[in-house]
Parts: sequence; structure tokens; C-alpha cells
Amino acid sequence: MDPSRSKLIVAYLDAILEVNRHLNLTRIEDTAQARMLHIEDSLSGLPEVEAAPEGPYVDLGSGGGFPGVPLAVVSGRRALLVDSVKKKMAAVQLVVDELGIEGVSTYDGRIEDLALERGGEFAVATARALAKLSVLLELASPLLKRGGVLVCYKAQLDDEELQHALKLQAYLGMKLKSDRSFLLSDGETHRRILAFEKVKEPGLKLPRKVGFAQKRPL
Ligand code: SAH
Repeated sequence: MDPSRSKLIVAYLDAILEVNRHLNLTRIEDTAQARMLHIEDSLSGLPEVEAAPEGPYVDLGSGGGFPGVPLAVVSGRRALLVDSVKKKMAAVQLVVDELGIEGVSTYDGRIEDLALERGGEFAVATARALAKLSVLLELASPLLKRGGVLVCYKAQLDDEELQHALKLQAYLGMKLKSDRSFLLSDGETHRRILAFEKVKEPGLKLPRKVGFAQKRPL
């Protein structure tokens, strides 16, 4: 990777860890562990992001800006980070501005509300540690344009969760495109990345009412 970009990502993480001392943005406080779990892991979905069509990128439930900020910096895509917790997005926006990271903005609100405002605009979406797969498909589908791709980061994925998502994917206008499993560099952290393509309009009106995707899952 271009050294200036990797420096920028490390500076971003360090600033987030500093803010984290008084604001709960991430559970991971140890620097070495954070570099692996936040930077390496965030960038592990880069091939799937780069394979998506050209256009803006949205990180769903971005929290402290992961995987959104590292992926935005490396891919060079215009990125929007979404989280309903205002103070998280305010802290992330501040750090992004202070470091002069270009092309990254934040939205402090619900994913469902963003879908009402900017439906069908995004070429690629990511989600890490947000919800089960079928819920991710429901939340992402209305935001993506046709051919757009949702990249899901999973630690463990049981067969039931995957089968349920596969059963619902066509109804939600989505289709599994790739599925890749690997270990992070510690040799023990399992990671699985699944990419779904928006192939058609969903069979129901999306987004459903705010909160329904997560509280009353299909
Ligand atoms: N992606 C980050 C954070 C994961 S925690 C990481 O991997 O480190 C999940 C985040 O999603 C929380 O910050 C929570 O506020 C946000 N979130 C959950 N449901 C949401 C919704 N419907 N709209 C917007 N943000 C949501």
C-alpha cells in the first residue's frame, strides 16, 4: 500500500483510540490488537469493495469508522459513514477533518432514514458487527443501485443464519456473489466475507418502518 495512505490510517486509528479514552467508540484498547482488528480486518474486504461498480460507498453502522475509513482511504471512493449515535459520528467527523481525510463524510441517523433520503445511490456498502445477514440484506438493499454490492464482515456465521439469508435474498432483491473465509495475521481470528449483489427491486417496500428490520426481522 502507498505509505502515505497507510500512515494516514494509523494516524486515524491512534486518534480514535485517544478519543475512546473518554467516549466508548471501540472495546479494543490495546494498540497492537487494534491495528490488527481494526486496520487489517477493515482492509480484508478491499477486494470485494474494489470489485463493485464505480460510485459512492456507504459504511452501515460505522461506529468508530470501521471498516469505513480505512476502506475509503485505500480505495479512494467517496464514502459516507452512517451511525445513529450522534456522538460517535461527531467524534469520527472531527478526526477525519483534523487529519484532512478527503472524500469521507458522516450521517448521524438511522440507516432506514438514509435510505429514504438517498435510496439507490450507492455502488457499494459494508457492514461489520451490525446485524445478522438477512437484516443486513434488508437494510442495504434500498440504498444500493442495481449492480451495487453489499460486503458483509462476519466473525462466526452459523449455517442457520446463512440459510435464512439465502432464502430471503431474492425477496430482498439481492444475490450472493462471493463467500471467502480466512484467518487474520494472528493465525487464530476467523473472518468470513460475503458479498451480495443488488440484482433487482425487492418484493416489498423498503425500508420498512424505522426499527422493523432489526426488531421484527423477516
Ligand atoms: N462497524 C463498527 C461498529 C459496530 S457496532 C465496527 O465494526 O467496529 C454497530 C453500530 O451500528 C453501533 O454503533 C450502532 O449505533 C449502529 N447501528 C445499529 N443499528 C443501526 C441503524 N439501524 N442505523 C444506524 N446505525 C445503527
